[in-house]
Amino acid sequence: MKNNYIPQKIGIFVWRTLRGRIPVRVELDRRGIDLDSILCPMCNDYIETVEHAIISCKVAKDIWKAIYNWWGSNPPDNASLSNHFSGSGRDNLPGGNKKIWQAVEWVSGYFIWKKRNQKIFRNDSWASSKVVSEIQVKTFEWITNRSRRKSLEWIQWLTNPINLGSPRTNNREPG
Ligand SMILES: [Zn+2]
Repeated sequence: MKNNYIPQKIGIFVWRTLRGRIPVRVELDRRGIDLDSILCPMCNDYIETVEHAIISCKVAKDIWKAIYNWWGSNPPDNASLSNHFSGSGRDNLPGGNKKIWQAVEWVSGYFIWKKRNQKIFRNDSWASSKVVSEIQVKTFEWITNRSRRKSLEWIQWLTNPINLGSPRTNNREPG
């Protein structure tokens, strides 16, 4: 899994997630690790599978919804992990923006998992809005540093990420 707009560790996280290889409680239990509970630590309502932690938990759903809304759409119904991480359904994005959208999706999954770990290991409950801003800040920082979009402006990133134009026209004076 490669997307050179974002750090490699995030590609590795996505790769592991798609193979069910992140340490959710049901997997730890399967490996014989003795846990007090195999319920999701975010909602305490469902067994924590990979799919649940990253996608179907209400906490994850709220974050995905905010991220999709930021990009002018809604999350697809019953999207699978691979739907979320493949940029599917967004083939009509202009220019090279599909790769940017994919980067946003990967970083979102990564931060949903990070929020979960903050809660478990540091007993620190990040608000979902804080996670969403963190995703926006980090993707902006990474994409402006790693792609040719050095001139991308923060306000444009926040308000209209789907119409960034091509990197070349980005540098040109308007008109
Ligand atoms: Zn949950």
